[in-house]
Amino acid sequence: MPKRVVDDEGRESWAGFALGVAGSTHVGRVRKSNQDAFDRFDDEERDEILLVVADGMGGHRGGEVASRMAVGTLGKIFRGSAGEPRERLRTAIERANHEIYRLGGRDSMLRGMGTTAVALLLCPDGTAAIAHVGDSRLYRLRGGDFEMLTEDHSMVARWLKEGMIDEETAREHPQRSQIDRALGAAESVQPDLLETDLRAGDLFLLCSDGLTGMLPDQEVQRLAERSRDPHAIVAWMVDAANQSGGMDNVTALVATLDTPQPGD
Ligand code: CA
Repeated sequence: MPKRVVDDEGRESWAGFALGVAGSTHVGRVRKSNQDAFDRFDDEERDEILLVVADGMGGHRGGEVASRMAVGTLGKIFRGSAGEPRERLRTAIERANHEIYRLGGRDSMLRGMGTTAVALLLCPDGTAAIAHVGDSRLYRLRGGDFEMLTEDHSMVARWLKEGMIDEETAREHPQRSQIDRALGAAESVQPDLLETDLRAGDLFLLCSDGLTGMLPDQEVQRLAERSRDPHAIVAWMVDAANQSGGMDNVTALVATLDTPQPGD
């Protein structure tokens, strides 16, 4: 198996791509605690990379606990289980749901806690599996197309899809952050499972609604197109969300896939 190589600027060669990954999270300008969580996990044996963003909810420390549990459990389970990438993500989501639900039922301080989760599993065969629950999103920038690959699990998203409201109304709707699917909310959960191919030039963005609630998609796209340095991109995104109000915790996690330069 080809070993992953990291150059001086932190750019890795992986699966025939020059890969860049960076994430950033911020409490925002209004909230007192950051209930978002994100991480990257590498499965050296399968040569797979998992990226996860979770956005927790619940009083006391519930939201923080739930999002961290979701990220940690996904990172642990995707490596340990067998099967197709999407099925392994499903198993990991179900396990995370179970653990959060169980702890929420046991500990009165954490009762009612829940979290979103969006996960992108990059596979060395040039595909990626995607799983999500709630309103944290995955976008793909390919060529000039900035496409939201996930669909929010919320009423407001359904109204938008049905044409009952427009994007601006959706972004400012009082019920915009009410999701109808979450990890930890019930004994079982149904994640959406998707797949994409991977091409040189792609950029993937995983984010919480603290980004997309503050910035229109066109603005997020403009920032994604400004550079191929994921560190710069996530920093601009978090800054822009805060400059637009910073009403919520904000998290952006970006992966760039490029053609390796000669000498890489
Ligand atoms: Ca949020």
